[in-house]
Amino acid sequence: MIKTDVLVIGGGPAGMSVALSASENGSKVILVERDNLLGGILNQCIHNGFGLHLFHEELTGPEFAHRLRTQVEKNKNIKVFLNTLVTKIEENGVEIIGSVGVETIKAKSVVLAMGCRERTAGNISLCGTRPMGVLTAGTVQKMVNIDGKMVGKDIVILGSGDIGLIMARRLTLEGAKVHAVYEINKTSSGLRRNIMQCLEDFDIPLYYQTTIFQVVGKDKVEGVYYGQVDDNYRPIESTKKFQKCDCVVLSVGLIPEMNLANFVQINKVTKGAVVNEFYQTDKPWLFSCGNILHVHDLVDNVALEAQLVGKYASLYAQNKLTRNQKEIEIKTGKGLAYTLPSKIYQGEGQVEIKFRLKEKVVKKQIVAKSHNVILGKKFVYAGVPGEMMTIQIDKSGAEDFVEIEVE
Ligand SMILES: Cc1cc2nc3c(=O)[nH]c(=O)nc-3n(C[C@H](O)[C@H](O)[C@H](O)COP(=O)(O)OP(=O)(O)OC[C@H]3O[C@@H](n4cnc5c(N)ncnc54)[C@H](O)[C@@H]3O)c2cc1C
Repeated sequence: MIKTDVLVIGGGPAGMSVALSASENGSKVILVERDNLLGGILNQCIHNGFGLHLFHEELTGPEFAHRLRTQVEKNKNIKVFLNTLVTKIEENGVEIIGSVGVETIKAKSVVLAMGCRERTAGNISLCGTRPMGVLTAGTVQKMVNIDGKMVGKDIVILGSGDIGLIMARRLTLEGAKVHAVYEINKTSSGLRRNIMQCLEDFDIPLYYQTTIFQVVGKDKVEGVYYGQVDDNYRPIESTKKFQKCDCVVLSVGLIPEMNLANFVQINKVTKGAVVNEFYQTDKPWLFSCGNILHVHDLVDNVALEAQLVGKYASLYAQNKLTRNQKEIEIKTGKGLAYTLPSKIYQGEGQVEIKFRLKEKVVKKQIVAKSHNVILGKKFVYAGVPGEMMTIQIDKSGAEDFVEIEVE
């Protein structure tokens, strides 16, 4: 058995940031990554736009990952196990298989930083045949950016998540014709800047309340029947049209990699763990951050969140993270999809709560209240579900619960 203070599972931007921060806070750390390189998904995100908040520079994904990786490699308190898969997580030991064989690591605190995976055709029950050429956007990103392989010439994209939008631009730059992006909802889950820079700048149409009714093709994709849906997501047959294509790219959401930790309480909306203000799950020794906790829109926010978690996991390992104060529930009120954390502890000072909106809002006030006492307010000029937002709340007035809602 290998012993350490803090064990971090997953070597993406979240895991590396946790490891660095836990080490700065006085802990010995083991960082386990199943791949042969630290960096996570960033290694395949070759476009720029990363790092403005953390490094005050515009970097590509691999550059951002390289900055953190270099710091991790230089740090004597962090031991990295590459090509090593975590197969079981328990309080009395985490099982790994990899370069050191089959082993158990016993840590005082364990941090989940395994990211998320993409929803597939099966997850969304996509109708039609199952020909070659139906791929998730992340797979396409890896094939094009890392393996140097093109996936088709005539593309349609289902779902307007950020990875799909980015791949619409990437495939266009590589010479393909991206005919359309179909989005079943009334709004996109992607960032506004990605809609402008990846679709509008390249004249790629984005059709809202539209979906693929059926994929057509025997061995290879030959096209799709698509059309509009009503407010209850039922296909409107009279709007059905055919689009010829040789590749269907799916960008229909991400699912936190919680299979190994499904014994903790799960948030029904995020599908990640329910955590308190210290990012502790309902098992106090187990922390969570990054995309396994909730899907972030900016990697910088992933790293900043993970720095906090590294500190808390390290304090817990040193028996310095006390939570004797009264527990206060954070309730998701009108107009919000979820809030994070779900619990805070009574005390003094401010605490930052992250949230996502359920739908687009224009010139609205977001208010955090405990009974009738206002603990925080935020004016949103224009907000969409695709953008993660934060509100600062004053803990001193919080009693029993805090509710955050669109006023
Ligand atoms: C396919 C895809 C493409 C994306 N493209 C973009 C983009 O273009 N731009 C953008 O801003 N954001 C993008 N994102 C979002 C991006 O993932 C996050 O912002 C950020 O990378 C999340 O960091 P993370 O460390 O939480 O997760 P990740 O970067 O996913 O890192 C998780 C790490 O955990 C490892 N791991 C998982 N399970 C185990 C296990 N059992 N044992 C050991 N190691 C394990 C994985 O190999 C991986 O290295 C993308 C996400 C996905 C899924």
